[in-house]
Amino acid sequence: MIVPNWIGGTWKPSSATEKVHVLNPATEEILAHTPLGTQADVEEAVAAAQAAFVTWRRTPAVERVQYLFRFKTLLEANQEALSRIITQEHGKTLVESRGSVRRAIQMVETACGIPSLLQGESSEDIASGIDSISIRRPMGVFAGIAPFNFPAMVPFWFWPFAIACGNTYVLKASERVPLTSVKVFELLAQTGLPPGVMNLIQGGKAVVDGLCQHPQVKGISFVGSTPVAKHVYTLGCAHGKRVQALGGAKNVMVVLPDSLQSETWKKRTLHTAVESVIGCAGERCLAGSVILSVGDKAYEAFQAGAVAAAEKIRVGDGLETNTDMGPVISQAAKESICGLISRALGEGATLLFDGREGVDDMPGYFLRPTVLANIQPHMEIAQKEVFGPVILLGKVDSLDAAIAWINAIPYANTSTLFTTSGAAARKFAYEVDPSMIGINIGVPAPMAFFSFGGSKESFFGDLKVHGKQSIQFFTDTYTTLYRWYDSDASIWGSC
Ligand code: NAD
Repeated sequence: MIVPNWIGGTWKPSSATEKVHVLNPATEEILAHTPLGTQADVEEAVAAAQAAFVTWRRTPAVERVQYLFRFKTLLEANQEALSRIITQEHGKTLVESRGSVRRAIQMVETACGIPSLLQGESSEDIASGIDSISIRRPMGVFAGIAPFNFPAMVPFWFWPFAIACGNTYVLKASERVPLTSVKVFELLAQTGLPPGVMNLIQGGKAVVDGLCQHPQVKGISFVGSTPVAKHVYTLGCAHGKRVQALGGAKNVMVVLPDSLQSETWKKRTLHTAVESVIGCAGERCLAGSVILSVGDKAYEAFQAGAVAAAEKIRVGDGLETNTDMGPVISQAAKESICGLISRALGEGATLLFDGREGVDDMPGYFLRPTVLANIQPHMEIAQKEVFGPVILLGKVDSLDAAIAWINAIPYANTSTLFTTSGAAARKFAYEVDPSMIGINIGVPAPMAFFSFGGSKESFFGDLKVHGKQSIQFFTDTYTTLYRWYDSDASIWGSC
């Protein structure tokens, strides 16, 4: 199967001549081929979206959300089918896929509140006899560019809000996991959404660059690695677009000894921290990477606890019910992770559990969790995003030193503190640079009604995704001042 585009309400073949495999990373089976779309596809999709905008913009918000209500019901009815597609093309376990679809549905639910979320501001008598109103108005065509790691959830961070606001949309899914979006668009088609409001094009760099430069595209939402996020931000801004570009991450979790004070606390701190690193095989932008213990006691507990947890993880095909962790996305990803581990050992890290062993006899891109101790802040593996199941254990003497470690990292997406102390939690939340913060939460993912996005080299732009900031991103503010005269009488003041 060559994955088609959805443009103007119909499935169409891409104009591409080049294509890439879509592989099941657990079996290496070829599931489909993604065409690497061209400028012709961009032109066609943007033209369809631009044409649809004329009517969609005039459709009242209360009517626009009826399509989203229908879509939510369809998503719920098809949650299992969608989850299976995600697991097949991405590799994460079915439980993880189901969780990601649930998150996608929450985005739709939140966007259904657009009649309230879109409300503006007004004031009477801003000057004598003059009233003023500000409204939020849709702008036209927006585009979204998604990464491979959450095939359903990440695109939903943008487009339900964009179209609920009255814009029309062009989505480019990741060429590595296009099949989830095909299923999503099949469901969207069943809602009766007017043709051209939502469009899907397949491809890679050429399509991304085409969208970033297209004169009719008003704004771009991007999620992916930091170098590409920077590229999209720079190119999109240079062409006069609003851009929100979310990049890579290097997340640190700090463990204060009080969070291990009882057996119950110890169990849940260890479980929460380890799950953060290895959930979705480490392929989450909010995945903890370095577990930084304050003092020897916590460090020792984590060395023993992380190894015990790693030993128990059952690696396999995510469709199997007894699988705890699926494969990573590709052979290249596996090699990159193994390379980082080898170089860390060369820099003085201590290997406590080697996840590279015992998986080469299986087809698929499997790794077991690796546990490395004696991690120092200058090491390559302490600086770079691993995006794989590698638990890095480090130690500092104080909370101040832990915060300094975190704030020296440019990829400031999230950070977590495990503690029972409110004072420590407040200090941590007040002083760390990453803008998504967890206190005793390993994966502090903001819900759909809060905004999501990191800081420094993890985020380029002003307004973050979903939540109220997305309503600002997808609308422009128009302010009208009104003065009405009461015939010739001057009850509204002289003019
Ligand atoms: P990626 O940057 O390789 O690809 C993302 C998108 O950009 C894809 O649609 C791809 O087709 C396109 N692309 C790739 N190279 C390009 C180029 N040179 N020019 C233009 N477009 C290009 O990212 P990925 O490997 O798919 O996803 C993993 C990355 O995404 C990780 O770094 C992860 O941290 C990040 N991510 C970040 C967040 C966040 O919220 N900050 C969320 C999810 C994933």
